Amino acid sequence: MTQRLAGKTILITAAAQGIGRASALACAAQGAQVIATDINQVLLQTLQQDSARIQTHVLDVRDTDAVQALAHTVGDVDALFNCAGMVANGTLLECSEADWDLSFDLNVKSMYRMTQAFLPSMLAKAERTQGSVSIINMASMASSIKGFANRCAYGASKAAVIGLTKSLAADYVKQGLRANALCPGTVDTPSLRGRIASAADPVQAEKDFIARQPMGRLATVEDIAPMVVYLASDESRFVTGQALLVDGGVTI
Ligand code: NAD
Repeated sequence: MTQRLAGKTILITAAAQGIGRASALACAAQGAQVIATDINQVLLQTLQQDSARIQTHVLDVRDTDAVQALAHTVGDVDALFNCAGMVANGTLLECSEADWDLSFDLNVKSMYRMTQAFLPSMLAKAERTQGSVSIINMASMASSIKGFANRCAYGASKAAVIGLTKSLAADYVKQGLRANALCPGTVDTPSLRGRIASAADPVQAEKDFIARQPMGRLATVEDIAPMVVYLASDESRFVTGQALLVDGGVTI
């Protein structure tokens, strides 16, 4: 078995299910020590049972004090995968201020919080080891790279993630920090299943999600996790400031 992340520690937010969970398992399988965090304690516990290399911490990424406390407890990490995020539906006229604020708080400001808490020790580690540390921010193909209807707050917030990522990459490139944004297409996760189930016509909604991807299927979480492994590993040591698409050909 290859050990592409041997010796590395990676912290992942929103790791209890979906893309975050698959990424935690993929990183652990490649030899990383994984600190998996989420607000869902019950699901997190099942993750810890799946791999001895995964330790779990309950963390709400919207809680600044909790983020600071975790950074203090955990110390330095080699990679930080800011995965937490949510979809608010609707056009601009349908978007309430509460939806807009929640989208930006969970999708973008959480990354500011996490990065501000973990970056100083990560930079110190990069200097100490003469190596590089990696931040991976979850953006999206949908509505940030390519426009889609009814995703105003989501698209705006995920585009902001790309701007934040490029800014980090530019500010810290000389200090051994790499920062990249991950832009998946439509991925079969519990949150997508929830959006499909809540549609007026769930069968048609699933067909529509599939139809927008030229490969003719939804992505699985296992289609996305290898990009997280790559970006956390030294294989991507010359890659920074990028918005990397894994979208089944939507943006061809
Ligand atoms: P998911 O719903 O399957 O999992 C989301 C996880 O986030 C859950 O475990 C939940 O408990 C956790 N969470 C929610 N609020 C939290 C908080 N405040 N603090 C910590 N954890 C919290 O989601 P997913 O579909 O795997 O999406 C993960 C990320 O990928 C999101 O940022 C999403 O926008 C992005 N993304 C998803 C898709 C897709 O099609 N599923 C496509 C592109 C990007």
